[in-house]
Amino acid sequence: MTNYVFPPHDPVSLAIKGSDSRFPVRRIYCIGKNYADHVKEMGGDAARSEPIFFTKAAETIVESGSDIPFPPNTTNLHYEVELVVAIGPNLEVFAYGVGIDLTRRDLQSAAKKRGGPWARAKNFNRSAPCSVLTLADSVDLSKARIVLRKNGDIVQHGALSDMIWGIPEIIERLRQDMDLQAGDLIYTGTPAGVGPVNVGDELSGGIEGLQRITVRFI
Ligand code: MN
Repeated sequence: MTNYVFPPHDPVSLAIKGSDSRFPVRRIYCIGKNYADHVKEMGGDAARSEPIFFTKAAETIVESGSDIPFPPNTTNLHYEVELVVAIGPNLEVFAYGVGIDLTRRDLQSAAKKRGGPWARAKNFNRSAPCSVLTLADSVDLSKARIVLRKNGDIVQHGALSDMIWGIPEIIERLRQDMDLQAGDLIYTGTPAGVGPVNVGDELSGGIEGLQRITVRFI
């Protein structure tokens, strides 16, 4: 047995609908600019823009039903509801979830201006809420819609079929670049309608056939 200088952290994990076993999270990959209507609302040209990759630490996961303390160093925290793909032991699509890619938009805008990294804008404590996972073979998402409600009002909605890169293409492109392993999560990008969230707000995201993600900001 390996001796460590201090006890290693337990892996971050997510519940799976209908299972007593949990999904241990390894890495979180995120896709940006994967819905044309969102590229447009961010001031880009969807015809000429390719989706992009960035990452969040596994420790940024927040489970549904959690309260999230409003993060520091931002006055413009944004929601982005997204389909989450969970990779299994044979590099297959093992399960799906509904996630929210929380973004400190003010820090992201500043980073874009100076050509700097997005790390502080995207990869901060509790920035990756994710629902209970649903096994992939138990659901058909081909016609599913994705919706986010803020305090009960619909603020984002779209069709998963509108993704610029579909799931097989995302996986293929990721694997050209780095290894993908069991436990990896992929946040697949957000449709139009991103906007601010403040203390006291509740966000609730859903995709037909999947478990909801609901979080509240305190
Ligand atoms: Mn996103």
